[in-house]
Amino acid sequence: MASAARKIKSVPGRFGKYGGRYVPETLMAALEELEREYERARRDKKFRAEFESLLKNYAGRPTALFHARRMSKELGGAKIYLKREDLLHTGAHKINNCIGQALLAVRMGKKRIIAETGAGQHGVASATVCALFGLECVVYMGVEDMRRQELNVFRMRLLGAEVRGVESGSKTLKDAINEAMRDWVTNVRTTHYLLGSVLGAHPYPTMVRDFHSVIGHEARAQILKAEGKLPTVIIACVGGGSNAIGIFHEFIKDKRVKLIGVEAGGRGEKLGEHAARFRGGSPGVLQGTFSYVLQDAAGQIANTHSVSAGLDYPSIGPEHAALADSGRAEYVAASDAEALTALTRLAQTEGIIAALESAHAVAECIKRAPKMKKSDVLIVNISGRGDKDIGILRENLKIG
Ligand SMILES: *Cc1c(COP(=O)(O)O)cnc(C)c1O
Repeated sequence: MASAARKIKSVPGRFGKYGGRYVPETLMAALEELEREYERARRDKKFRAEFESLLKNYAGRPTALFHARRMSKELGGAKIYLKREDLLHTGAHKINNCIGQALLAVRMGKKRIIAETGAGQHGVASATVCALFGLECVVYMGVEDMRRQELNVFRMRLLGAEVRGVESGSKTLKDAINEAMRDWVTNVRTTHYLLGSVLGAHPYPTMVRDFHSVIGHEARAQILKAEGKLPTVIIACVGGGSNAIGIFHEFIKDKRVKLIGVEAGGRGEKLGEHAARFRGGSPGVLQGTFSYVLQDAAGQIANTHSVSAGLDYPSIGPEHAALADSGRAEYVAASDAEALTALTRLAQTEGIIAALESAHAVAECIKRAPKMKKSDVLIVNISGRGDKDIGILRENLKIG
């Protein structure tokens, strides 16, 4: 036991007992190279200046922190602010990470990018930065997802990317990740794997978090300027966990700021009906990292369901697993129905159509804000905009 504990400590990229690097031997060298190069880039003034310049001039940062007056008044409790990641180029926070990793790929002399995508949002953001930097781009996507997200498949192709359909398994995100890993093993010398969330083997969870930490960095300065104090509560939705850790990270040391992650409660409590890893999951290894995983008693990965494709993944970033175990962050779930109601309510009180993912965070805000004091400040991270969800919304909402 004692030696096992020592062993865990010596593994890089651990968050408590979570994280690590569970990959085939053939990928170890690539991950070590990436870790080394990232450590160098992180300290390099020129790299940082280039990253910041692109965030500003290409992606459209800083994003606004908007006081939602009507919603605050209607809910009758905390003063609500929205961090507007939905205003970014390509419509969500994902572009932050894609710019960072593309810059890193160029630095490493890699001319070919591979990426996985579920709903297509990360695929579109990856195809976008590859066009920007003149890099070859191959996106792996389950054929079931390709069918459901035709428009994003077209977008990626329009941006010059090749979309490769994956026929194995459930033909969705986790199968696309397996294919991308296979490609990486084969082409590791020329290729960078642009992973889309705070998942996978070290250094990805740390590196992707760092690229998104600009969200919390800005939010902190903005709320101090607007209110002269830190927020009482910050709420963000959690798929892999990148937008959430991006806004949380800057506040982790401020113990009085409550951090709340919202998972997809789907349409029921049974395994297979949701994607709430902290409700039905248990620690296990999936796709390179040790974290909470939705699995059956035999360790087979469970199917998941959510109305929002971006939250529909059977595992969660390892840093969230550690934050949950330590109690520093709290994780709750919002159902499909609650998210749809919250999305509609935000649209009709503030004129903002949020992504279905972000609507899960809004749903928790609607539950919590009325119980808070008027002097309390609550920030909701609006991770993306809802344009991509209009088809699903039309199927699910009876309007008019
Ligand atoms: C992809 C996506 C998410 C989920 O990913 P995280 O890594 O958990 O942030 C959330 N919101 C939007 C708008 C997305 O596109």
